[in-house]
Formats: sequence, structure tokens, C-alpha cells
Amino acid sequence: MQEATLCDAQDGLAPFREKFMLPAGMIYLDGNSLGALPKATPARLQQVITQEWGQDLIQSWNKHQWLDAPLRIGDKLTRLLGARPGEVVVADSTSINIFKLLSAALPLRPERRVILADSESFPTDLYMVQGLIQLLGQDYRLRLVATEALSHALNDEVALVLLSQVNYKTGALLDIAQITTQAHDAGALIVWDLAHSCGVIPLELTAWNVDFAVGCGYKYLNGGPGAPAFLYVAHTHQATVQPLLSGWLGHVEPFSFVTEYHPAPGIRRHLCGTPPILSLLALECGVDLLLEADLHAIREKSMALGDFFIAQMTPLGFSLASPRNAEDRGSQVAFRHPQGYAIIQALIAEGVIGDFRAPDILRFGFAPLYVSFSDVAQSVAILHDIMATGRWDQPAFHQRQTVT
Ligand SMILES: *Cc1c(COP(=O)(O)O)cnc(C)c1O
Repeated sequence: MQEATLCDAQDGLAPFREKFMLPAGMIYLDGNSLGALPKATPARLQQVITQEWGQDLIQSWNKHQWLDAPLRIGDKLTRLLGARPGEVVVADSTSINIFKLLSAALPLRPERRVILADSESFPTDLYMVQGLIQLLGQDYRLRLVATEALSHALNDEVALVLLSQVNYKTGALLDIAQITTQAHDAGALIVWDLAHSCGVIPLELTAWNVDFAVGCGYKYLNGGPGAPAFLYVAHTHQATVQPLLSGWLGHVEPFSFVTEYHPAPGIRRHLCGTPPILSLLALECGVDLLLEADLHAIREKSMALGDFFIAQMTPLGFSLASPRNAEDRGSQVAFRHPQGYAIIQALIAEGVIGDFRAPDILRFGFAPLYVSFSDVAQSVAILHDIMATGRWDQPAFHQRQTVT
């Protein structure tokens, strides 16, 4: 505990904790699933609802730049992504953006029919590929391989590679620069899912020659439940990719109301329908807050929190599912335990919020802007006590809920 207090005293990011609403008596280690609420968000939403919506109504599209918000917030995100202005737009969900980018990118490799993905991908990524393939027919197929086998599976059949930088269960981190180069060397293009990366890991999409990327607004960006996601298209591809979901806000002149679709130049063509303004402006509060912090300091603290957590844990039947080396991990630490579900429920009942991923993973996320070293020490102490006393083994904790 003393060590934790010392680390907190030296933590340059510690003042950010005050900028979040965190419930008293709770240690929140699930910011990788739903980020905490920035204190600035309720006031901003109140203003948007009562003034912009309530008073200014339809005029707000111009008067309060509602229509510009997807691109404006996208441009702010380029600073977290190492991308150039005009390469990112905020829209839809991560799942839908995966569909949009894959369907737009496949025609760039017309002679190839394989989409290569990691078999351990977050399932929605794979589900979206399956749906797209069903739509396209023409012998398109999904090739699933284990992470270690990715480079061997690259050949002249592969049109696109779809990968997450961070494994959502174990937190294992892939080398974007290296794998992107391998994909390009094989003549393929690559789509990176940055759902567990953006906001906690410094990224250099331009320098790494990344073709396409998507990411999530409600995790480390603290945009709120169901916040819109983002998508990135490298400048080099912007003129050549044509959206399949060709909605009016991606049209070159949405307000000309012409019958025929012509895509807007640049990233805006990847907009489809009217954006959810309330969610979008809530997301902007989260992004603005994140931009006040130094992303490299965030990464340093994230690695230190993970290391501290692992170092405090005694075996107790748990085995580490995450890489031991912090450089090889995202901002989460996972342990396996056959009774993982009940143990997580017992922890939650005592105010430590982690989550469970079937079949046996206990997952703890460390959002460096609001998680302290003392939080980590306290969580481990509670976990040890739950194990030592057997408090986890109560019927209520074995009952499965819908969201785990
Ligand atoms: C969280 C997450 C998603 C979520 O997709 P939604 O469409 O927002 O539900 C997708 N992919 C990965 C890798 C994720 O971690």
C-alpha cells in the first residue's frame, strides 16, 4: 500500500482523476469496456439539449456547426492516431465502419478473394466479414488463422487483412508497423481495429503506412454508452475507395438533392446518414479531455499500472493470460481461473468493477486518466480476501447475467 501511495504521489496524470465523475466506494477497472463520465459532459449536453436543440432547433445545423461535428471530431482524433487532418471521420458503430471500409476497399484488389483475419478477433469483426461475403458472393472467403500464423497465411489470394492491435481478451499487442509492411509486401491492404488502442497507446498511422482503421468511441475515449465510432482512410486511398453504403451525407452535394449518387471528395464520403448529435457532442467532451493529456505519459502509466497489478497478485489458482512484458500489452491485464465468472461477480459486489470473458478470463482495464496505483493495490487486496475466505462461492455469484 505504501508503494502505491508513493507511485500516486509521483503520478503526473493524477490531477485528471478529478475531471471524471467516479462513484464513491467503487474502483472502476472497466474503462476498456465503457469509459467513465467526464465531469464536463453533463453540462455540455444540458446546453446542447436546452439551447441548441430546444431553442435554436433546425438552425443549429449551421449555427452550432452540427453538420461539421463528424469531421471536426475526426480531425481531433488524428492527433491521437498519428494521422493527417482529413483522414478520420466519426460515424456509426465500429461494426458498421468495418463493413463500410471492407466493402469499399475490396475493389482495390479485384483479382483477390480472401479476407485474412485473426481467429481470436473480437467476434463482431468476423461477423461483419461473414455478412459482407454473403452479400458479395463471387467466391469471396474469410481465412481465419492464429495470431502467430498470420505472416505465413499471407499470399497472393489475400486482398485485405483485418486485425485488432490489442487482443480483447488477453490484451496481447500486435506490431502494427511490422504487420502492415508484411501485408503490403504480399500485395494486400490492411484494416486495423483500434477499439482498445485509441486513447491509451500512441499511434502513428501515417508513419506506419496504415491503409484503413476503425475504432471505438465509448472505451478509452470516454464518449458514453454507444458513442459513435471512427474510421480512418489514408490520403493515398481517398480518391479511389467508393462507399457501398452511399448515403446522402456522403454525397458531394447533399443539399442539391439530385437523384444520382456522387461521393464527396475526401473522408466525408464515408458518412452515411444524419449523425447522432447528442452522442457525438458527448464524445467530443471525452476527446477534448484526452487531448489535454500527454499520450506518451498515458502509455507509461498504463504499463506501470499493469505491471503493478501483476506484481501484487499471488497465484491463488489464477494464471496470467496477458503478456508479462508491458511493452507487449495493451492497457488491460487478464487472468484465467476456472471460477472466473463467480469471482468477478464477488468482486463487483464489493465495489471492484472488472469483467468476465468466456470461458475463464477475468479482465481488468486500466484507464490511466482516472485509475490510481492505490486503486490497484486495494483491488488486489480485496481479491485476495475474497479468495482466502471463499466469499466468491455463493449461489448468487454463479448466476449468469446477460452482459458479462
Ligand atoms: C468494443 C469492440 C467493438 C465494438 O463494436 P460496436 O460496433 O461498437 O459494438 C468492435 N471490435 C473490437 C475489437 C472491440 O473491442
